[in-house]
Order: sequence, then C-alpha cells, then structure tokens
Amino acid sequence: MGKVLVTGGAGFIGSHLVDRLLKDGCDVVVLDDFSTGRPQNLEHHKNNRKLKLVQIDISEYSKIEKFFKNVDWVFHLAALADIVPSIKKPFKYHKSNVNGTISVLEASRVNEVKRFVYAASSSCYGIPDQYPTPETAEIRTEYPYALTKNIAEQYVIHWGKIYGLPVVSLRMFNVYGPRSRTSGTYGAVFGVFLAQKLHNKPFTVVGNGNQTRDFTFVSDIVDAYIQVAESDMCNEIFNLGSGQTYSINRLVELLGGDILYVPKRPGEPDCTFAEISKIQKMIGWKAVIPFENGVQTMLDNIDYWQEAPVWTPEKIKEATREWFQYLGK
Ligand code: NAD
Repeated sequence: MGKVLVTGGAGFIGSHLVDRLLKDGCDVVVLDDFSTGRPQNLEHHKNNRKLKLVQIDISEYSKIEKFFKNVDWVFHLAALADIVPSIKKPFKYHKSNVNGTISVLEASRVNEVKRFVYAASSSCYGIPDQYPTPETAEIRTEYPYALTKNIAEQYVIHWGKIYGLPVVSLRMFNVYGPRSRTSGTYGAVFGVFLAQKLHNKPFTVVGNGNQTRDFTFVSDIVDAYIQVAESDMCNEIFNLGSGQTYSINRLVELLGGDILYVPKRPGEPDCTFAEISKIQKMIGWKAVIPFENGVQTMLDNIDYWQEAPVWTPEKIKEATREWFQYLGK
C-alpha cells in the first residue's frame, strides 16, 4: 500500500501502527496535536523521509484537508482517550472525538480514500447483559467519553452508508503495551501501576480487584488494523479483543507488589469480555500474545513510565470527585 494517513499517530496505539506501516514500506502522514500523544513516541523515525509528522488539531477541517490528497488508507485513532477526565470536560471531548471525526471523514470523502478504519471503543456497551459481549449488544453509554466515541462511530457508519466511503469500525477493549498513555490525567490501569511500581509505591486497586478486563496486546491490535485495511470489508463493526478476560488481581500478581484498595467507580463494568467470532470468521484475525508474555514486555519497558504521575489514593479521590458526584447518584 502506498500512502497512509494516521490520526493520533503520536499516541500509544497509533505509534505502534506507524512503526508497522513504515516497516511495510508505506509513506505515512501523521496528524496529531500532541494533546496526550508525544513526538518522542516516533522519535526513532526522525530521519525516515517516509514519515511526515504534522502537529495539528483534526477538528480544524480547513487546515487538515490538504494532507489527505492521494492518501489510500486512513486510520483514525486521534481522540481524547482517557475516560475519567471526560466527566469534567464533555465539550472538549466532543470537539476532538466527534467534530474531529466528522472533519477526518469529510477530508477522506472528498479525497476519495480507499479505506477508512475507525478506532471505536467497547465502552459503548456500558454494563452489558451478556458476556462475552457481541457487536449486537445494546448501546449503553455511561459517561461522556463513551458517548463521544459512539456518536463518532455512528458518523463513520453513516458516511459509509450515504457517501459510500469504505469504512470499518473496530471496537477495541482494553489495549496494553509499551508507550501506553502517560498523560497527567488519571487513566488506564497499566500506566497507573507501572509508575507506582517504579517508585516502590503500592498498587491502587479499584474495588476488590476481582473485576476482569479483556486485555489485548498492542501488536495483536496492529495486526488486526492491517488485516482489516487489506480486506474488502465495508460498513462493518467488529469487536477487537483477545476473547479472554483477566482480573486486576491477576495483573497485580504478575507485576508483583503491595496493594491499596480504592473505591470502585460507578458506571464501570465488573467485566469486559469481547465476543470475537465475527472478526475471526470475516477477517481471520485472532490475538496471539499470551497475557503473561505481554505483561513481561511491559515490565521490560518499565522505564518509559519514569515521568508518569504516581497516583496515591488521595490524588485519585481528587481526580475522580466529579465522577462520583455525577455517576454515584
Ligand atoms: P492516546 O491518547 O495515546 O492516543 C490518542 C492520540 O490522539 C494522541 O496522540 C493525542 O495527542 C491525539 N489527539 C487527541 N485529540 C486530538 C485532536 N483534536 N487532534 C489531533 N490529535 C489529537 O490513546 P490510545 O490508547 O492510543 O487510543 C487511540 C484510539 O483508540 C483512541 O481513539 C481511543 O479512543 C481508542 N481506544 C483505545 C483503547 C485502549 O485501550 N487504549 C480502547 C478503545 C478505544
């Protein structure tokens, strides 16, 4: 494939996708405003002339449109992706996640890109009735992040239906791997735990730690993106998860360290668990990295979280105040 555009390519998942695309010989354009992503995530490509890194806000249609000329594939990953802060900043999340998506869709449509892959979120299922959870489960958005990601997904599918843009939406569950977010906000469990481990602080386990998550290693996710882009699927939504579910206590056991418990957040499921037969059958994709190996890779790369904030129960209480205020009713 010739020219590929990745929004959010300086972020966690995006930067791994860019690594793969460059390895495969593509010309890659990255649009990222570095709001949570970091140029350092692509630092190792700085002398690679096949990569063009543009600092830009994707919601500014008139500024981004020109970068879509002659682009074959668009991978749209840019979004504000930390869940907890979305409760305080719904407008900001809407601007990046919804307005940003329409802007990227339009730029893709007018430039007739051949493939548009959207990074959707399993948070659309909220607290589902069924485990493993299929794509057909009811949409139950519990907080602004989930809502914005789902509204954007509806736009993506609509652009496929109305304008014939060849779109696919991938509802990712819990993705982990090197370079997962270190932004100042309270967020994904790996970043929180690894910074705590580096500083010999206890892990702040939410609830009793028996809750489980469908953790998928980032290299498996990247493989899925490429396989989906290479397929002729159009207007499809796929779950993207390992099809397994692991408890937070199991994660702590693998990382090794002391525990402090913090209150469980309302609105969060006790389990995330992807039903993955659709993508298995239609694309032939399946995650292959065992959880234990993935966690070991995280430990091998732990220095990355040196500058990440070290969360304590007091700081978490402060960061989640509005969450409990609005969702704890
Ligand atoms: P990330 O924060 O590392 O990456 C998001 C990137 O988007 C960052 O580089 C950020 O700077 C950029 N960005 C945000 N707003 C922007 C804007 N207005 N203009 C330009 N760039 C902007 O997060 P990630 O974990 O790599 O997530 C990538 C995508 O996958 C997101 O869309 C997220 O919602 C989705 N997703 C992630 C997970 C997960 O477990 N990590 C699960 C489901 C869905």
